[in-house]
Amino acid sequence: MARVFIGLGSNLAEPQKQLRSALEAMGKIPDSCLLRCSSFYRSAPIGPGEQPDYVNAVAELETALSPIDLLDRLQSIEATHGRERSVRWGARTLDLDILLFDERQIEEVRLQVPHPRMAERNFVLLPLAELEPQLLLPSGESLHQLLQNCPHNRLDKI
Ligand code: ATP
Ligand code: MG
Ligand code: MG
Repeated sequence: MARVFIGLGSNLAEPQKQLRSALEAMGKIPDSCLLRCSSFYRSAPIGPGEQPDYVNAVAELETALSPIDLLDRLQSIEATHGRERSVRWGARTLDLDILLFDERQIEEVRLQVPHPRMAERNFVLLPLAELEPQLLLPSGESLHQLLQNCPHNRLDKI
């Protein structure tokens, strides 16, 4: 079984409800076990234009699926939660990103792991640190180091 961390985000249609419903759906992914989830955090939007605040969290999952099969499952959960991709980084009902997949480093067109922008996002690093403060990335960098170098954008635990 691989140990996976997944970043959840929503800023439309009752974000906290979206995250709770996504967690329920993630608990039903075959050959996988949802282990735990961080607190929910409210964060300042990073995308283009005016957008509502986001609600973010990080969940830990064990899975026997391949990384691409897991991505397919996560994208179908996004789809059933009304996710539309019109504007890059635009407002969304649900975003599920694979942050880490064991110690693997993946560079495919559809999937890059570790998530290439996680180091600049405190709304990813802080909930991850809540779950796994001593975490080391495949690069050998510690989560502590990433947090120290990460921009301090507005982020509040809910
Ligand atoms: P960001 O990736 O900056 O957080 P986003 O989550 O809004 O932006 P999406 O529209 O959700 O981007 O996804 C765009 C594409 O990114 C997806 O179709 C997927 O194939 C690809 N992708 C690459 N790496 C990952 C990953 N680690 N987790 C999820 N999707 C990924
Ligand atoms: Mg994302
Ligand atoms: Mg995404």
